Amino acid sequence: MDKNDCIFCKIVTGEIPAKVVERGDGVIAIEDVNPQAPVHILVLPEKHVANIAAHTASGTSDDVARLMRAAAKIGEKHAGGFRLVVNTGADGGQTVDHLHVHVLAGRHLSWPPG
Ligand code: 5GP
Ligand code: ZN
Repeated sequence: MDKNDCIFCKIVTGEIPAKVVERGDGVIAIEDVNPQAPVHILVLPEKHVANIAAHTASGTSDDVARLMRAAAKIGEKHAGGFRLVVNTGADGGQTVDHLHVHVLAGRHLSWPPG
């Protein structure tokens, strides 16, 4: 997918509205439009990168650390625990081709995932 057609790039620029939880350090956190848990937040880099696999070719470890730390900081607010998920590619269940970390919390999450 061309980044010009990317939903999450449009959320970054404000072209498509989203509930922004926090923003800074090149990272934005938004509420998922179709939540799968009481807390379901997506943390994404403002700069377009298709997924974590593409990122290993073009990005830096610092970028990954910023993204994961931002996600973990949101998760840590939930004392019962939380889950970070990075779906990648078709078999990984990725539906939006802009790297994002799901932060899920607020209920018991079963394992293994489907
Ligand atoms: P994936 O399946 O790629 O791991 O996750 C994509 C996520 O983006 C899904 O959980 C889906 O609900 C969410 N999503 C898709 N379109 C939009 C949108 O326009 N706004 C927001 N806030 N979330 C979206
Ligand atoms: Zn994008």
